[in-house]
Amino acid sequence: MKRIAIAGFQHETNTFARSQADLSDFEMDDSWPGLLSGEDVITVTRGMNLPIAGFVAACEADAEIELQPILWASAEPSGPVTDHAFETILGRITDQLRALMPLDGVYLDLHGAMITQTHTDGEGEILSRVRASVGPDVPVVISLDMHCNVTRKMVALADAITIFRTYPHLDMSETGARCLPPLRAAMSGQKLHKVFHQLPYLIPMHAQFTGAPPMSDLYAQARDASTDGALLELAVGFTGGDMIDTGPSILAQAEDPQKAQTMADQLLRNALAAEAAFDCRLPDAATGIRAAMALPQGKPVVIADVQDNPGGGTSSDTVGLLRALMAEGAQGVLMGLMHDPEAAAAAHAAGIGAVCTLGLGGRSGLPGEAPVMGRYRVEALSDGAVRYEGEMYGGGVAQIGPTAVLRPLDTTADLQIVVSTVRNQCLDLAYFRHIGLQPENARILCVKSTVHYRAAFDPIAQAALSVGATGALSCDLEQAGYRHIRPGLRLGPGKKAFSASSTSRLQQ
Ligand SMILES: [Zn+2]
Repeated sequence: MKRIAIAGFQHETNTFARSQADLSDFEMDDSWPGLLSGEDVITVTRGMNLPIAGFVAACEADAEIELQPILWASAEPSGPVTDHAFETILGRITDQLRALMPLDGVYLDLHGAMITQTHTDGEGEILSRVRASVGPDVPVVISLDMHCNVTRKMVALADAITIFRTYPHLDMSETGARCLPPLRAAMSGQKLHKVFHQLPYLIPMHAQFTGAPPMSDLYAQARDASTDGALLELAVGFTGGDMIDTGPSILAQAEDPQKAQTMADQLLRNALAAEAAFDCRLPDAATGIRAAMALPQGKPVVIADVQDNPGGGTSSDTVGLLRALMAEGAQGVLMGLMHDPEAAAAAHAAGIGAVCTLGLGGRSGLPGEAPVMGRYRVEALSDGAVRYEGEMYGGGVAQIGPTAVLRPLDTTADLQIVVSTVRNQCLDLAYFRHIGLQPENARILCVKSTVHYRAAFDPIAQAALSVGATGALSCDLEQAGYRHIRPGLRLGPGKKAFSASSTSRLQQ
């Protein structure tokens, strides 16, 4: 029997967000289950589109493998992970790894863009402590979200790395399962040679959709080249994390060093050639709304508030798009999810049909943000248990807390807003349907999401438009305010390169 320990510790850290992820954020249910321990790691995640669930399913098909589940924890993306949360969760993982020795292998379900109060390379630190716990000879394999900012430390400390190949992330479970063959090979003594390249440009999040070229072509190449035990992985990077290794990268892993070099170099060549083909246009909210209203009525038009996507660590309560909808008098609009616990509580206290005078959203502390004051009618209420319908998270249940549908009354716009108590990314039709709204009947669907919404919303929509309003996930990277990324890194395809002087100018 091969004894394999498994654990998960995921966080995508947005250093521009004015929030933190503390232990309670990892313990609570949100888009994903709260902190799981022991056998719950296997039973609660079974069948879900999660990396660890895919790895477990692959292992369970092998009678020679005995799994030792430790824990699995994730928090909604946000500002940095607190030292207390990091030390508590990682301490539990490393304590149990030492207690479980001798082990034949370790699998870790990580994100790859974790930044803590102390460590800019969260996963590098996790791996170095896991290595110290199990020693240099026990194979350690990891799967990563494609929004990972891969570091040389991570590459050096993991025996093999697999990375999602789809955005929306439909292959999370599959990516976990892809870790088993290289772990098996490593347990039998094979060593993978690695070649790592970092790209010289950033790709704004809204241009990373893998359903169209050039991204679809690059991932097809990565997939097609991964044969005979070799792995070619491509990360798009997480632009919300401001650190020295931010950005896209390529990692080729093969037993034959020359093969790894060739694979990595070929993908690098094509990624460099693709730079100009990324569509990074981002109209402002009013322009997007007018374009949507000009389209023929019929199927809905989706307007994505791409820079306030809580799945990228933002507050999910900015009001630029809301104010523009009101100013334009937009009709037939559903909007989700506005994160505002106070407004949700007021609506639940007042009851359906009541009119509340309150300030909605606008509490992120970002420049120019303030609540939208006025009268709102409470049109529906829910307890916020949202059973996912879509392919990405189907089978799971999101917990968004007491939730309300509010209609602003001091405007000519016809607008219903889903207001939640817990931050969640609006990537599934169930966020509307669970509270009695019919997204397919809307004229305009506004979502605080960058790309993930497309898996569920594209099939019912006639068009999807990205718009730029206030939010902590800048898609106009020259305006992001970077301080720590690599000098010379281009701030988007065809954009100028980052330098210390451009930073100080932007911060004035
Ligand atoms: Zn991601």
